[in-house]
Amino acid sequence: MKQPNRKRKLSMDSKEHLNQDGCLEQAEEEKKPRDGATPLSHVPSVAAQEAWSWEQYLTEQKAIAAPVELFSKDQSFPEHENGFQVGMRLEGIDPRHPSVFCVLSVAEVCGYRLRLHFDGYLSCYDFWTNAGSPDIHPVGWCEKTKHELHIPKGYRKDKFVWMDYLKACKLQNAPKKLFRNRSSNGPMPKEFQVGMKLEAVDRKNPSLVCVATIADIVEDRLLVHFDNWDDSYDYWCDVNSPYVQPVGWCQENGRTLIAPQGYPDPENFSWTEYLEATQTNAVPAKVFKMRPPHGFLPSMRLEAVDRRNPRLIRVATVIDVDEQRLKVHFDGWDHKYDYWMDADSPDIHPIGWCDITGHPLEVPYRANDVKILPGQAVCPTPGCRGIGHIRGPRYSGHHSAFGCPYSDMNLKKEATLHDRLREQTQANLESDSSHSRSKNLCSLNFNGKHEKVNSQPRLVQQAKCLKIKGKEDIDLDNLFRALF
Ligand SMILES: [Zn+2]
Repeated sequence: MKQPNRKRKLSMDSKEHLNQDGCLEQAEEEKKPRDGATPLSHVPSVAAQEAWSWEQYLTEQKAIAAPVELFSKDQSFPEHENGFQVGMRLEGIDPRHPSVFCVLSVAEVCGYRLRLHFDGYLSCYDFWTNAGSPDIHPVGWCEKTKHELHIPKGYRKDKFVWMDYLKACKLQNAPKKLFRNRSSNGPMPKEFQVGMKLEAVDRKNPSLVCVATIADIVEDRLLVHFDNWDDSYDYWCDVNSPYVQPVGWCQENGRTLIAPQGYPDPENFSWTEYLEATQTNAVPAKVFKMRPPHGFLPSMRLEAVDRRNPRLIRVATVIDVDEQRLKVHFDGWDHKYDYWMDADSPDIHPIGWCDITGHPLEVPYRANDVKILPGQAVCPTPGCRGIGHIRGPRYSGHHSAFGCPYSDMNLKKEATLHDRLREQTQANLESDSSHSRSKNLCSLNFNGKHEKVNSQPRLVQQAKCLKIKGKEDIDLDNLFRALF
């Protein structure tokens, strides 16, 4: 495995924002920080951080690192350096709507990671990803692969031409060579086809296995969509993912299969009748290959992106595991901040990943390490250095509990941000062909009418189902967090 030279790249924060015409201008909300926002450079630095080393820490703690072999290509040390630059344009998946491909720009580069911005939208919707992510593609990829491209807000679909857009706004597209070539993973077996049915784990409620459809295939991954539910539950996975199983798997394994929303008799769901009614086929059972168990064990150390503050990567410990996931604890922090992550999440890395890729690593919090100057405004949350903000990358820092992603008042607010696409008017949504595409594919109900889909009823239905059936393995925590 080739490890790039140790090279620190300074993170660059783009203050650029697109106006309604899609051209660059200074973002209003970034000019005037409110709510205790603090520029990152004013954050008190932790002197001890410089002297910290994994080697010494593991010896002190008598701890072991998670072996590099347990990490996938997407998690392990990158083979190439991150060549993306602030301002470059590209196409990519909206993490909150995995079926939607958008016009994106690089807003910040840090180590092997990128903060990506949706052109034409507020920077509160920006998100972090790895430079080698399979979710990003060069300009022109959608046209080439016949995917619909969601264009910057304010543009007319029939008028948007990439080259004109780049030229008019004097923008640069990200060169193709910067994107990771995934052809080494081999193509998708031809038995997997768009529109075919399978049984899949709901990653937001991992104890549920539901009726699902392959909504898209790109390179070596498929897009799982749950029949009659909205696309916020969709996810991309490879064919060996333990989350996808053949039709009939639940029955064979004594598990309850969650029928599509609106199925007339969900207790007695029949695949035979359903496949006939929807005129669809099941993916042949023989093509499913289970990947070997993930191998992570409690007490192993690793580096993990903190999802409450995704610009940060922290020293973390695996404290529990199940078949597909691991529970991470951030060293030095209270256990109330622990959470479950998928074992194949691109947000976990072997120790030394930050150092090698030139990304800052947040070392374990020790109360004595923090030196506060007299009169300095600091966040009152123990361990928090005032980096990040509950309202997303719109603000780079905070110095009060109101803005702190870790304060008790904000801990339960998982979904503070509004949905970017729901900002649009209903009329826009209805004329949006990608939404109609997913409706045509999956949400035809059994009277042949389209149902209005949204996520809340799914959880309510699940809660009811929980009451009725007394399901023991349901992830209550997850369910109720999503409900309230
Ligand atoms: Zn804080």
